[in-house]
Amino acid sequence: MWALRERKVEEITKLVLNQAFKDYYFRRAEDVEIPDNIANREFGYSTFENAMVRHLSFSSAGEFHAFLVKESPYSVFSSVSCYAKPSLPMEEKGWQGADLVFDIDVKDLEMPCRRVHDSWHCRECGKMGSGLRPAICPSCKTNRINVLGWGCQTCLAAAKDHVHRIIDFLLNDFGTRADAISVFFSGNLGYHVEVRGQEMDGLDHDSRIEIADYITGVGITPQLLGVFPRDKSEVVSQKMPLTSEAGWRGRLARHFSNKLKATDAKSDAERAMAIQLASLGYRRFTNRLAQYAMDLGAKIDRNVTLDLHRIFRMGGTLHNKSGLIKKRCEDLTSFDPFNDALGVIGEPIEVHVSYSPPFTLGDEDFGPYSDSRVTLPLHAAAYLMCKGLARPRNDS
Ligand SMILES: [Zn+2]
Ligand SMILES: [Zn+2]
Repeated sequence: MWALRERKVEEITKLVLNQAFKDYYFRRAEDVEIPDNIANREFGYSTFENAMVRHLSFSSAGEFHAFLVKESPYSVFSSVSCYAKPSLPMEEKGWQGADLVFDIDVKDLEMPCRRVHDSWHCRECGKMGSGLRPAICPSCKTNRINVLGWGCQTCLAAAKDHVHRIIDFLLNDFGTRADAISVFFSGNLGYHVEVRGQEMDGLDHDSRIEIADYITGVGITPQLLGVFPRDKSEVVSQKMPLTSEAGWRGRLARHFSNKLKATDAKSDAERAMAIQLASLGYRRFTNRLAQYAMDLGAKIDRNVTLDLHRIFRMGGTLHNKSGLIKKRCEDLTSFDPFNDALGVIGEPIEVHVSYSPPFTLGDEDFGPYSDSRVTLPLHAAAYLMCKGLARPRNDS
């Protein structure tokens, strides 16, 4: 009886979400961003039954919009790559080139707010708790535990900082044209940076590894700066970068200089790295250099940048884990994901919320909730339902 009732509750949740998504795509299908070369892209989507459908193709934006309104999918994706025959199996598609994409996820930023707003759920006994995932369930001792990541203004602002870093690398180190770069709020826990156009699309997998290494600051050594263990100090001073230089050389010189100024106001900013090398010795300097490079690099999900077969969430579509829009950020600095990415609208709905940390959506504060029955605006109810934390009230 219990299982039957649970299934029924799940069905009602799906029905409510499906209707809210359908309504969004009916109103705003035209806002969904169609990639260039639509006829050469693979499309995919997930259903509210959690089935994944791939290898679709569309010949025109109109055909795709009609599909969106008809299917109102849970998630919608298009390939980062272009293919001669996008609907054939992967090995027969005929790869032509790919957008260069970057994914920044708050889960990778190790922000202290995770301790406040993340939660976990034991798949064995159903116990839930707030904060970081325990190694084993305190109740049944299993390690079969799901983590529910959450985003707040603090960690999403930190994610923005990493977007700015990627843009700096693209514009100033790679010479990418500004109009080839698009930034999107991912719709849930981060941001996407997408580079489209002829400059980058021919890069193969190995070249993308190099780009990912460069942007994350992997493999930066003194040798790369032209400095070797047995170099004399006057040689080292000549080879070390100046703060005015471009690329990683200048980036590191400025960082060393800032760090050194904090401890020694009289230090020569221009040759700060040489001073550090002299005081630390070569081996410790090498470690410090690697640490600073990691600190200055952008924290990207490398798999996303390297995967040429990936289908990627489309701009203007709703995220299945939040009901928020994957939204283009025209002005990243002022962009507010909890205000600017609302897409679901409708009558308030009474829901049962099993658990939720406090959150703000559309300038309205909600929660915290624990086993609460509340009436919420549809976008707030959908936000929690998408995360599996709420369900429509069901007394039957
Ligand atoms: Zn348990
Ligand atoms: Zn946070």
